[in-house]
Order: sequence, then C-alpha cells, then structure tokens
Amino acid sequence: MRAAIISDVHSNLAALETVLSIIEAEQVDELWCLGDLVGYGADPERCVEILMDRCDVTLAGNHDLVVAGAIDMSVFTHDAGTAARWTAKVLSETAMEQLKTLLPFGERNEVELYHASIRDPIWEYVVDPGTAAACLALQTHNLALIGHSHVPLVYAMAQGEMLLAGYAEEGTLEMVEGTRYLINPGSVGQPRDGDPRAAYLVLDFDRRTATWRRIGYDIAAAQQAIIEAGLPRSLATRLSDGR
Ligand code: ZN
Repeated sequence: MRAAIISDVHSNLAALETVLSIIEAEQVDELWCLGDLVGYGADPERCVEILMDRCDVTLAGNHDLVVAGAIDMSVFTHDAGTAARWTAKVLSETAMEQLKTLLPFGERNEVELYHASIRDPIWEYVVDPGTAAACLALQTHNLALIGHSHVPLVYAMAQGEMLLAGYAEEGTLEMVEGTRYLINPGSVGQPRDGDPRAAYLVLDFDRRTATWRRIGYDIAAAQQAIIEAGLPRSLATRLSDGR
C-alpha cells in the first residue's frame, strides 16, 4: 500500500493540480490531506471540490475551521484575516458544508493524523525538538503525520532518545521498526522553507519508507489569481519567496 500525503494547499489551484497530476502518474493507492484546504490563495472553491472528491481522508486546518465559522474570525489578523473573510464570502454553500464536516485529527492505516499536533491539533506548531519529543511521547502508533508549519520535517525517537530532528530534504527515509516517527510533508500551496516548489510525501507501507518530493508549478498563475481576486499582494509575492 502506498499513500501520497499532501497538506496546506491554501486555495492554490495551480500547485494542487500540478501535484495531483504527478501523484496520479505514480499510481499510489490513497491520497491523504492534512488540512488547510483554503486561506491565503485565490481558488478556494475548486480546491475544496477537488480535494473532497479525490482524498481518502481529509482533515480540517485552522484556516478551514475559521472560514467554516467553527472558530471566530478575530483570531486571524492582517493578511490571514483578509483572506479568510474573502474566502467565506466567495465559497459556495456546498463547499462550506463540506468544510464543516472536517475534523483537525484522524487516523488511517494505523497512522495518526493531526493538522497541527497531537497536543493541539488546531494551533500548535511543531518546529523544534522539544515540542516534537513531547508529541512523540504521546503517540500510540509509531507514525504520526502533521502539517501546519508548511515546512518538511522529520522527528524520530527510540527508547526516549531523539534520533532525527529537523528539516527533511527531498529523498527517501527508511523507517526502522520500533522507532517512533513524526513527519511533516511540507506544504503544497504555500511552502515556507525558502524553496517555493510544492511539497508532498509518499509513504510506502510495504517497504516502510517515507519519500519527500518537491515539484515546480506555475507560481505566476497562482500570483496572478491572488492579485485579480483583490487579495493582499504580499500573499502573491511570498509564493515566489517560499516564505
Ligand atoms: Zn496552513
């Protein structure tokens, strides 16, 4: 069984379509999404439609919960708030109802799934070894997947000792039996690691491997859509910066 994992699409249709076309060519068995379907980008309706149709499991991210009205808009300031208000206005009732069905945590094939973290599936950023160690200690399965930080990361722990902690380069990791892993695939629609290419992950359950992949997409098209929608210009420029 192989599963492709995507996260933090953030209404970036150009990035989503490119990633899905590559994933399709890889003929994986399942597609999982760790949340933040919407927010920041200019194509929320199409992104929700595609993701709800194609994914075998989809989580809600903090942006999805705010747009769906489960969390008050006032938690977001500046660009995130502007984009969330715009998204709530332009989304169809069908898409809004679909967002409302999503939860920020889940489980599939004995893998724990959280948008943000096991301790706080909506808001906690896991970007340092201390936070990761606290989360790994709470896992009931050997593998947990998280999104939210928009950075590809891997943390691994065995017998209380941290074996891997930090940035995940493109490539394949062989997962050792008895070791706990906490993995972030990175973001499809708004990478923040300085590499503007879309990020995703492929898990091979038979070979016990995790593979981080990056793929270039039409960033100019995503930027143009943001500007034409009247969203803050900084949301367009950050896409080519990868920040
Ligand atoms: Zn996000």
